Amino acid sequence: MTTFYHSTRSAEDSVTSKQAILAGIAPDGGLYVSDALADARVPLETVCAQGFHATARLVLGTLLPDYAPDEVASCVEGAYGTQWDSDAVCPVTPLGTDWLLELYHGPTCAFKDVALQMLPRLMSVARDGGGRKIMIVTATSGDTGKAALDGFAGVEGTGVTVFYPHGKVSDIQRLQMVTQLGGNVAVCAVRGTFDDCQGEVKRIFADRALAERLDAAGVALSSANSINVGRLAPQVTYYFDAYAQLVRRGAVRAGDEVTFCVPTGNFGDVLAGYYAKRLGLPVRRLVVASNANDVLADFLTTGTYDRRRPFHKTISPSMDILVSSNLERLLYFASGGDCELVSSLMRDLAEDGAYTVPDRVLDEIRATFACGRADDDDTRAAIRDTWRELDVLIDPHTAVAKHVLDGIERDGSERVCLSTASPYKFCTDVLRALGEVTDGMNDFACMDALERLTGTVAPAQLAGLRAGEVLHDDVCDRERMGAFVESACARVFL
Ligand SMILES: *Cc1c(COP(=O)(O)O)cnc(C)c1O
Repeated sequence: MTTFYHSTRSAEDSVTSKQAILAGIAPDGGLYVSDALADARVPLETVCAQGFHATARLVLGTLLPDYAPDEVASCVEGAYGTQWDSDAVCPVTPLGTDWLLELYHGPTCAFKDVALQMLPRLMSVARDGGGRKIMIVTATSGDTGKAALDGFAGVEGTGVTVFYPHGKVSDIQRLQMVTQLGGNVAVCAVRGTFDDCQGEVKRIFADRALAERLDAAGVALSSANSINVGRLAPQVTYYFDAYAQLVRRGAVRAGDEVTFCVPTGNFGDVLAGYYAKRLGLPVRRLVVASNANDVLADFLTTGTYDRRRPFHKTISPSMDILVSSNLERLLYFASGGDCELVSSLMRDLAEDGAYTVPDRVLDEIRATFACGRADDDDTRAAIRDTWRELDVLIDPHTAVAKHVLDGIERDGSERVCLSTASPYKFCTDVLRALGEVTDGMNDFACMDALERLTGTVAPAQLAGLRAGEVLHDDVCDRERMGAFVESACARVFL
């Protein structure tokens, strides 16, 4: 067996990718990374000559080498089947003189489906029908929750518990979660922010006493947040596949460098782009687009990560994050694999709320990463202008990236803007951005109005929510989240 992954904070113990996927986070609190990224290559000519499914098999086979080829193939087939409303899975379409990579054609209309239709299948194979049952515990800023619920509902030997910040997700996002069917799902709103939810989930994972009680009942906790290797690896696929689509359209010649602009929150999506680059994809720049919670844009500019700042509730809520967990992996790679440095930076973050990276690490990061930010006014203007000038309707997260991309000087490379959600997931804010008055209208009235105004059609899975029954109405304080998980385990597994 290939033991391939170890913690960002220590290279001493290594595990297989199956073990890393089942565990989620390393025992020392670090994230699993693989040093093989330095030599592994995904051959570009092959990628350019094939479609999304074959590239997914190739990428996953490279990043998760202890999965047998037939295991990977059946996971890919199941994850990217008819639940997607585009044959291309993640189609690339024109956006003026740039390109839009549409990642929202899955069952929950957000890019997280790319990873979360795959992760449960990877976990199921890793469990191999035996071993402990797995309770997925996840904190969501809006989109992950539904994507995790949809991915895990009904998957044998697993359950899923989702926490979201009370009052801080859109009506439609909330309805998507609270109407979720399935005997193995649990959903709870938490009084607090997303960071409160995520912080408490991390604490729950570190709770030894809880782990022992669950272990005695044959249950282990795991994560579906984007820190899981099984989330990250599937996202690498669409960078390669988007490039292949551009080659087939004649927009780039194989070997030309391409720039990707990514609306960023927890740094999972854009980190997958960095993995693609390390695996041989010709990437000129990765542009990190932040909303008003611009901790990453500040970090990439100054080298200091400082979470001690006000939290802003924005119209791009899935990016309302002050601690971007996946950045820890970039620190590992950009420091040349310096676990000691990563550990000490993470200690600074935990103790002081801030850290500063050495200049050489910042230089290494800035050789690839650029950044920019958009506040809510910029975001609304980008939605309006993109619709009026280019006839393309985009959601607020995508609009953050569009605004940032427009502010980056052109360097001759083709540029791809990642589109992470259907505009209909955020129809009230999109409608308002187009200059319409939405006072007194709920999300569904806005959905109808947006269809009429633009002549576009809402995805069926969102339009159908208005008939959905609310099945989950729990609300709790942060301190009660652990107890909620424990009772969900008892209900689902015992
Ligand atoms: C999760 C999410 C993002 C942010 O992605 P990260 O991987 O957390 O950086 C952006 N847009 C949408 C719609 C999302 O759901």
